[in-house]
Amino acid sequence: MISILNIEPKDYSPEARSLIETIGKVYDGPFNRNELVQKIPEFDALIVRLSHQIDVEIIDSAKRLKVISSATTALNHINVDYAKKKGIEVLSLKNETDFLEGIHATAEHTWALILSLIRKVPQAYQSVLKGEWDRDSFKGRELHGATLGIVGLGRIGKKIAKYALAFGMKVIAYTKNSVDKYDHVQIIKSLESLLKLSDIVSVHVPLDSSTYKMFGREQFSKMKKGAFFINTSRGEVIDENALITAIKQGHLAGVALDVLHKEVQLIRYGLSKAVEFAKNEDRLIITPHIGGATLESMEKTEMFMAKKLVNFFMNN
Ligand code: NAD
Repeated sequence: MISILNIEPKDYSPEARSLIETIGKVYDGPFNRNELVQKIPEFDALIVRLSHQIDVEIIDSAKRLKVISSATTALNHINVDYAKKKGIEVLSLKNETDFLEGIHATAEHTWALILSLIRKVPQAYQSVLKGEWDRDSFKGRELHGATLGIVGLGRIGKKIAKYALAFGMKVIAYTKNSVDKYDHVQIIKSLESLLKLSDIVSVHVPLDSSTYKMFGREQFSKMKKGAFFINTSRGEVIDENALITAIKQGHLAGVALDVLHKEVQLIRYGLSKAVEFAKNEDRLIITPHIGGATLESMEKTEMFMAKKLVNFFMNN
């Protein structure tokens, strides 16, 4: 009998679960890290989201494990090379281009962040809760006519561009692959030029050796004074110390982040510099990696991954 551990079963699609139950018995977490290390030897398959780092220690404990299934495009939470070395297959949404076309959650959340930031929505709401009705402190900025600089014109970057054009923005992009194109979006050859031209910069690159800390002191200093910066890609794409300095110096008017440097580890121990800074600084707003987390997208992706898991066991 195949034993499958779903480590984060909260709100997991019932249809996806029923499908997986056709091939084996599904056990539910959640477990903390120590429990996971102890329990993992009993399982053939592991279904994860983002709240655990599946590292060498966990993989070494997973004596029976044949497959890890992650309904994500990025796999920075899994030591994929080590898993492969141990003969464990990693299933994900990476390169599932056709399917991912129908997933809109992160692009929509990026826009929620952009609008919250430039219209000071979280701050205005907090003020109302304090019994104030202050129309002067929360004057915002308009999108119409402003320039949006997209870094990484891939699946999400293109959706961001489409919505930006609907707002009447000028849209420019700096991107790696020459095939990345979108109507009415001007491709800019250097990151530096894009940063100098943009009123709002939104980052949509994958995390790899070419993008690790791609945004540091030099890049933030190249941005227009008073510009806004949004990152919904991966935390490690940014040097958070440099970002905090750029906000403190008043160079950036506002920053919104959905992802943080080592978010799972640092948040657990209250060690995220960005979070500590944001507690006393309303020019930085942070959401807890919820870009992809809509009921619609999770249901679709869980069902898609359930089919991949079933196929894996049919063929292995
Ligand atoms: P994608 O692969 O479709 O697009 C990435 C784009 O980045 C491509 O156009 C590529 O040419 C470009 N790129 C790669 N390296 C670059 C570099 N060094 N300089 C400039 N451009 C570069 O990826 P996607 O599906 O659009 O995802 C974008 C990001 O969003 C990823 O980091 C992904 O992990 C993240 N993401 C976050 C959430 C969330 O919940 N916040 C959800 C899904 C995806």
